[in-house]
Amino acid sequence: MGIVIKSEKEIAKMRQAGNVVAKVLKLLSEQIKPGMKTKELDIIAERELKRLGAESSFNGYHGFPANLCVSVNDEIVHGIPGDRVLKDSDIVSLDFGAIYNGFHGDAAVTVGVGKISQDARRLIETTQACLENGIAAARAGAKLGDVSAAIQEYAESRGYSVVREYTGHGIGREMHEDPQIPNCTEPPYGLQPGTGPVLKKGMTIALEPMLNVGDWHTRVAGDRWTVLTADGSLSAHFENTIAIDNNEPEVLTKVIYG
Ligand code: MG
Repeated sequence: MGIVIKSEKEIAKMRQAGNVVAKVLKLLSEQIKPGMKTKELDIIAERELKRLGAESSFNGYHGFPANLCVSVNDEIVHGIPGDRVLKDSDIVSLDFGAIYNGFHGDAAVTVGVGKISQDARRLIETTQACLENGIAAARAGAKLGDVSAAIQEYAESRGYSVVREYTGHGIGREMHEDPQIPNCTEPPYGLQPGTGPVLKKGMTIALEPMLNVGDWHTRVAGDRWTVLTADGSLSAHFENTIAIDNNEPEVLTKVIYG
């Protein structure tokens, strides 16, 4: 398909889609608590999506059976909401996508349930900082590999590994557009700094670092969706949809107040 450059008008629509995603994730982060089943989070997301007049990007995508991915502790991404009961000290990655005005928004946060350990807090904070560093590196004229390197460098400086087989992606009228956005620099998954496509104003991309306490290897559960750390260590995931601009990139998946 190639990289699709969006007009100002299209980016304005994506801002609205992103705002829907941000509002739903904010609500879920506020409502998550010990004793809740993960499918209750999906019900809240579905209700809020309807109230905001949007549709799910995920439900039915390659057969995915929910509106929201809920990945707990050693689950990295693509967890299916169900009867699992959340308990105090769990960490939960919530990944959510919405279509509004014909455009997708996609974002993820990892939140603690009740009181979490200092080690879990540090993993979550580092993953969020990796996303922010990736966004800061995503300037017009930079190469995509510069973004990958910025994410990986910070993760490894804090003693974590970045998941290699799963990447961020272009986004727009399709949830997954070109290019893939690796979180590492090693072939065959990654991009060395100074290599890859040049970032240009109007590119809209979803950056989504996934960090593991242990090593980067993954496995897929028997449900054929849930991706877990191979070594059973904790994992966290943050994602934002951004638009490349000639100055700072714009984060499209943030709550617009008022
Ligand atoms: Mg994504």
